Amino acid sequence: MTEPVPEAPHSIGAFVRGYEEEQRLRGFRCPACGHVTATWGLACARCGHAGLAEFALGTTGRVVARTVIAVSADEFLNDTPYAYVVVELDGGGRATGWVPSIRAETDLPIGTRVRFRPSYKPGVQFEKEPA
Ligand SMILES: [Zn+2]
Repeated sequence: MTEPVPEAPHSIGAFVRGYEEEQRLRGFRCPACGHVTATWGLACARCGHAGLAEFALGTTGRVVARTVIAVSADEFLNDTPYAYVVVELDGGGRATGWVPSIRAETDLPIGTRVRFRPSYKPGVQFEKEPA
């Protein structure tokens, strides 16, 4: 016999609207182990606890991985080339997103400080923090 699937305490739609409409980054914090994630889910990726609580993620962080996209989907044609990034957010969690106007990986070294930049464009857009 299988266990019933628990009701989702939060919806993926509201999660995505968080950055598209409300101009903030939603995430989750595990009350059991404290793990913070920017990835929508029903259970903690670290300990498996099924009671994740919504958490307001930081809007600044540093680039921990990136690649330059030179051939893009139609939505990004006017922004190509750009960098697809993984950002370690201040306060916890890692978010994937993109940074416009990056022509080469040397334009965005690992460790570069970035901040969330609300945009009408798809995805989570970041920009370099002013030096
Ligand atoms: Zn946990």
